[in-house]
Amino acid sequence: MDWLDRHLRVDAIDTHIDPGYPVARAIITHGHADHARAGHGQVLATAETIEIMKLRYGADCAGHFQALAYGEPLTIDGFTVTLFPAGHILGSAQVAIDHGGRRVVITGDYKTEPDRTAPAFELVPCDVFVTEATFGLPVFRHGPASDEIAKLLASVAANPGRCHVVGTYALGKAQRVLSLLRAAGYDKPVFIHGALDKLCCYYQDKGIALGPLVPVAGRDRAELRDSIVLAPPGALKDQWSRRLPDPVIAYASGWMSIRQRAKQSRVELPLVLSDHADWRELTATIPATGAEEIWITHGREDALQHWCESQGLFAKPLSLHGREEEAGE
Ligand SMILES: [Zn+2]
Ligand SMILES: [Zn+2]
Repeated sequence: MDWLDRHLRVDAIDTHIDPGYPVARAIITHGHADHARAGHGQVLATAETIEIMKLRYGADCAGHFQALAYGEPLTIDGFTVTLFPAGHILGSAQVAIDHGGRRVVITGDYKTEPDRTAPAFELVPCDVFVTEATFGLPVFRHGPASDEIAKLLASVAANPGRCHVVGTYALGKAQRVLSLLRAAGYDKPVFIHGALDKLCCYYQDKGIALGPLVPVAGRDRAELRDSIVLAPPGALKDQWSRRLPDPVIAYASGWMSIRQRAKQSRVELPLVLSDHADWRELTATIPATGAEEIWITHGREDALQHWCESQGLFAKPLSLHGREEEAGE
């Protein structure tokens, strides 16, 4: 593959995928900050990703926006770009680029586990598959999300009078936790930190049912007893959480499968909820694409590279800089 370089740039059409710095023409896979940055000349993305970028960075965060629906090909000087659902968060897309009879698929972040807040991951056959590897170690095997929510609800039932505050990243995770709570039959209002408000409203506007939400601001301690509160991870440590009545600190993240990590952040109730493919998903998806060449970004590149090679696939780590996940993703 000589027309896509290891920085995910197609020079022939002066286009970069998820560039870490401002460029003239960018294709953006999804709205998380390690993929979507402000300051590009032109942005091509799903309508949802564009709206999320505008919500987070302001309406003029790029010179020009072009929305592309899933499955709708767009040809730019002989290179055909098509976006396919990545199953990661609302609007998240894999970018397929066809040129000269070869197809590259750049996943961005993805998961294949069902999630009612994001269109389901679509397997796209290709020649070169550029995969994330955030949880690219055999130890990462995430169980069903519903089990983690059951754990949260069991703790609420077992701790009368206490408040459960769940650290959730503002884009994607908060909405997924809400959706899972509703799917589990929890229909009481959920209290939310102000930092989650905009994106929760956005998801609801897009028809994703999150149930009744109430801002924490202005509530007294009595009202918050026996409640579930969602807050960005940073708020768990600061003054803000002191207003909560005898809180049980929970945290929803794929990283919560690492005990040490939960301990360090003084999390009493770790909830292993990941929006990234785990080891089983990665090693099932890679061969299913039929690609003979695998490029690996973001995370545990060595282990996955080794695994690909053991399967007779050519694999190369991209070592992209600036791809540290946003906290709690
Ligand atoms: Zn992401
Ligand atoms: Zn990412």
